[in-house]
Amino acid sequence: MNGKVKKPAKARLKLWLLLAAVLLVVLILVLLGLRLYQWKKELEQTRLLTLVDREHPVEDDYNSEFILLGEGQMLDSRCVDDLEAMLAACRQAGGDPVITASFRTWGAQERAWEEALAALTEQGFSQEEAERLLETRLDRPGYSEHELGLAVDLAEQGSELPQEQQAETQTLRWLKENSWRYGFILRYPENKTALTGMDYRPWHYRYVGREAAAQIHELDLSLEEYIQMFYSE
Ligand SMILES: [Zn+2]
Repeated sequence: MNGKVKKPAKARLKLWLLLAAVLLVVLILVLLGLRLYQWKKELEQTRLLTLVDREHPVEDDYNSEFILLGEGQMLDSRCVDDLEAMLAACRQAGGDPVITASFRTWGAQERAWEEALAALTEQGFSQEEAERLLETRLDRPGYSEHELGLAVDLAEQGSELPQEQQAETQTLRWLKENSWRYGFILRYPENKTALTGMDYRPWHYRYVGREAAAQIHELDLSLEEYIQMFYSE
């Protein structure tokens, strides 16, 4: 009699144990999945914050998925939606932005560098002087954020002013105030030239994602300072 009663109880216990084991495995898998998702997001964010400046060249194996914008401009697919939203909002506020540069290959950057250098030497500067002068205005090939596909140069459509004198146009004033809302930062601001090593470039915007851009804006940091503060070990 007793044996008959015990048997189902034992079987039930086994069933419960099995169920508990299955639940445990599911729980572990879910937690692992969440962690992996988190890692992937962190990695993505870190990649968006890739530092390229005079000391940090674009790494050989850096690659991105690009999207062709109108008029032959190309950018990293991750910043295109935010860029379009930013340009639309700028137009709505009375600005008239136009993209004058976006992704550049190493070769295109080299051509830009060589042309600018030739123009300076034609003006009478020695090769050495010209290079020193140019270094604060233009990136050497291999050292440009444009080669990442995460930077755009913007200007006011139809403006007669040269790019470096456009800071006070309605378009560039609006961008300076509002670009962070769309994940873009003014990469070489006037008050950070000592840190970035670059002259003020009111036209050059770098995508870092909305969260980082909001923090950078809030704390008034250069990208170098931001990475140093939040991302270096
Ligand atoms: Zn630029």
